[in-house]
Amino acid sequence: MQDVALEDFRQEIASWLEANCPASLRHGADVEPTEEDRQAWLEAYAGRGFTTPTWPSEYGGGGLDKHQARVLQEETARVASYAPVVSFFGTSMLGPVLLEFGNEEQKQEHLPKITSGEINWCQGYSEPGAGSDLASLQTRAVLEGNHYVINGSKIWTTGANRADWMFCLVRTDTDAPKHDGISFVLFDLHQPGVTISPIQLISGASEFCQVFFEDVKAEKANLVGPLNGGWTIAKRLLQHERAMLSGGTGLGAGRRKKAKGAAPAPKGMLAEAARPYLGGGEGRLDDAAMRDRIAQWELDSLCFGLTLRRSGEQAKAGQGPGAASSMFKLYASEMNKRRAEILMSARGSAALGWSGEGFTPSELMETRGWLRSKGNSIEGGTSEVQLNVIAKRVLGLPD
Ligand SMILES: Cc1cc2nc3c(=O)[nH]c(=O)nc-3n(C[C@H](O)[C@H](O)[C@H](O)COP(=O)(O)OP(=O)(O)OC[C@H]3O[C@@H](n4cnc5c(N)ncnc54)[C@H](O)[C@@H]3O)c2cc1C
Repeated sequence: MQDVALEDFRQEIASWLEANCPASLRHGADVEPTEEDRQAWLEAYAGRGFTTPTWPSEYGGGGLDKHQARVLQEETARVASYAPVVSFFGTSMLGPVLLEFGNEEQKQEHLPKITSGEINWCQGYSEPGAGSDLASLQTRAVLEGNHYVINGSKIWTTGANRADWMFCLVRTDTDAPKHDGISFVLFDLHQPGVTISPIQLISGASEFCQVFFEDVKAEKANLVGPLNGGWTIAKRLLQHERAMLSGGTGLGAGRRKKAKGAAPAPKGMLAEAARPYLGGGEGRLDDAAMRDRIAQWELDSLCFGLTLRRSGEQAKAGQGPGAASSMFKLYASEMNKRRAEILMSARGSAALGWSGEGFTPSELMETRGWLRSKGNSIEGGTSEVQLNVIAKRVLGLPD
């Protein structure tokens, strides 16, 4: 896009923000935002399609090109204390594969509700007997009239207890080789036969669940892609998921709140978080060993951020996230875990709090965050599985 046109667009966005961002949600506001303010801000932002800025406007997206999307991001960051976000299961996982593999009716039906946040999605991939070896999944779907009737169970389903719909891998042919008998279907979780049981994580939170299906129905129209052709879509979605987890989708990076906790924190933040516990006032941290660990982490984080930016540019140039997303996912998981470890070491006894008084809210949160970070190298495919993908698909090594 020409510089002049982009400058006009910047002006247009600045005026739009002036008219639509509630005063309480601007930098330097001297009033506390109310829930209504937050809701109004979300509705205005999503109403323009800005929660999915580069999706086509006919599906509720912003219809922006990559330069305009960058301007939107910059202008929003300049004016507002945050950019509204909706669930990343829709924006960063299901949405991109619907745009690639969905038919026109499916795009019209589902994409606008992702952008607006009206429908919350969850991911029905893993089963008690199928995790890394996902293609062994056993949840059955049988076509009866206009519906697939589904029986079986999914596990580790993040947010199932808050979700409205699930995108789900089901077995539709039991005789075919395992990768060739899988289909990708969408269905409403608010129906008889769906039972959702939360599972508690080591961090104390219950963010994921086991989900049981007993004669649950998915409309035939909600089969995405060909019958028994779900494996290709499943793999593509995992690439988007891994890119999202590493913050490497370019447009998603930075706008996204720390979705599942894997993307590294901005430069300098670790040193500042550790500073109150390590001494040294505003100057050099006193503890030389910790200083070394922190400096190394900050440098690695900076280099990683630059690499992600380069890959984000490639993604926006239409190449999409490929198998390389496994490299970023692997590295982001390790960076986040290392960050949590360093912070725990720096905090000493202040890192031992679980609840109650004697610890600040941020100390309690970081302790739980450290425990939660253990899941980073499992979710979205384990680190060992990423190494296998890198060996095979990126380096071209033999099986
Ligand atoms: C926080 C969190 C959120 C999650 N959210 C979701 C979700 O929303 N939806 C969903 O469907 N799933 C979700 N999962 C599940 C996740 O995708 C699986 O846990 C993961 O794929 C591993 O499967 P598994 O737990 O069955 O372990 P297994 O596959 O049984 O693996 C056990 C161990 O064996 C290793 N291993 C297995 N195969 C190989 C191999 N070929 N080569 C080398 N090592 C191997 C693994 O690396 C691992 O260390 C989530 C998991 C976590 C931790």
